[in-house]
Amino acid sequence: MAESGAEETVSAEASGFSDFSDSELLGFLDLESNQESSSPLGTAGPSSQLPGKDGKDVRFPTGKRELYISSPLERFHLKYLYVTDLCTQNWCEQQMVYGKELPQLLSSEKEDLLNTGASIHLARELEVHDLVNVSITSKEDAWAVKFLNILSMVPSLQSERRIREFPVFGEVNGVLLVGVIDELHYTDKGELELLELKTRRFPMPPREAQKKKDFFQVSLYKYIFDAMVQGKMTAARLIHHTKLHPERPLGPSVLKHAQQGGISVKSLGGLMELVFLSLTMSDLPVIDRLKVEYVHQETSAVLDTEIVPYEEKEVQEKVLHYLAYWTGQRGPKGVDIEEAWKCRTCNYSDICEWRKSGRVHVSPLEPPTKKAK
Ligand code: SF4
Repeated sequence: MAESGAEETVSAEASGFSDFSDSELLGFLDLESNQESSSPLGTAGPSSQLPGKDGKDVRFPTGKRELYISSPLERFHLKYLYVTDLCTQNWCEQQMVYGKELPQLLSSEKEDLLNTGASIHLARELEVHDLVNVSITSKEDAWAVKFLNILSMVPSLQSERRIREFPVFGEVNGVLLVGVIDELHYTDKGELELLELKTRRFPMPPREAQKKKDFFQVSLYKYIFDAMVQGKMTAARLIHHTKLHPERPLGPSVLKHAQQGGISVKSLGGLMELVFLSLTMSDLPVIDRLKVEYVHQETSAVLDTEIVPYEEKEVQEKVLHYLAYWTGQRGPKGVDIEEAWKCRTCNYSDICEWRKSGRVHVSPLEPPTKKAK
C-alpha cells in the first residue's frame, strides 16, 4: 500500500513493461549498444554461423531472402514495437537488427552499465511513489497492471503533481508503439514538462549524435502521449494489435491491487474502458516542453541539460522511415560514412554485412567535433 501522500504504482517487473529502462537503454547506447529485449529468431530463410562471445557458434539469418518472405515484425514475432527500438534505429538500424538477432553478443560490461542506470532510475521513481509487487498469470494481467498504473497517475497529473514511469502507447501507420515516459511535471509557468533522465558512465556531456537520438526519443514520447490524451488511440485498436482477450477474468493479485486502489473491475475490458475514459475525460494537457538531463552514474552530478525543440512533421517522417523497415518495405541500413566512428565500439563490427560491403570505412579517429564559429 502507498504511504500517505504518495501515490502507488506496481513494479516495472510486474507491469510486464520490458522497456521499463527505455531511457537507460538509450543512455546505454552512449557506448554503442543495442536493444532492450531478446526476441525469438526467425526461422525462415538461410542462416550463417559465427563465433559468439563465449566462443560457441551463433546462428543468424542472412537477411536477403527473409526480407521477401516476411516482414521483420512477423519474423521477430512482434505485436508491437518499443520506442527504444525506433531510437536504436536512429543510432544505427543495422545494429538494432543485430541486437534483436544476436542478443547474446551484448557485452557483460554493457549489461552492468544498464543495471547501474536502472538502479538510478528506480531510486528516482521511489522518490515519488512506492512500488508494490503484483503477481501476474497472463498477458491480460500484465497489461492490467500498466492500466492500473495509468489510472493511479492521472489524478496526480490533474492536480499538477510530478509522476514517473508513465506508460504510453499509440498507433502509427498501422504499427503499435509502446514506451514509458521517465517523468512528467509542471514548470513554474504551469507548462507540462517531460523530463528524460540519461545516466552516463563517464563525467562528460554527450556527443551530438547521442543527443540527436535522445531528442528523437522524447519527441516520439510527446507524439504518442498527446495522441493518447486527445483520444486518438482506442481500446479496439489496442486489442487488435496485442491480441488481448478483454473478457478474460483478471488474476487474484491484480484484482486485489485494483480493489485496494478503489477500482472495481473483473476483466481487462472493464479496466480498459475506465482507462480510455480517464485519459480523454480528465482534460489532461498535451506536453508543452521536452527536457533531457544527463547525469553521471557514479556521482549523480548533472553533466548537461537540454531543452528539445519539437518538430512534429520531422518526428512523423522519421517514424515512417523506421517503420518502413519493420513492415518489410526496405532492408536495414547501417551508418553513413560520416558516422563510421560508431562502428569502432559496435559489438557487431566483426560480422556486420553493411560494414563488410564497404559502405563504411572505420576510421581510428574520434567523431568530428563542431568548430566554433
Ligand atoms: S558495425 Fe557499424 S554499420 Fe555495422 S551495425 Fe555496427 S555501427 Fe552499424
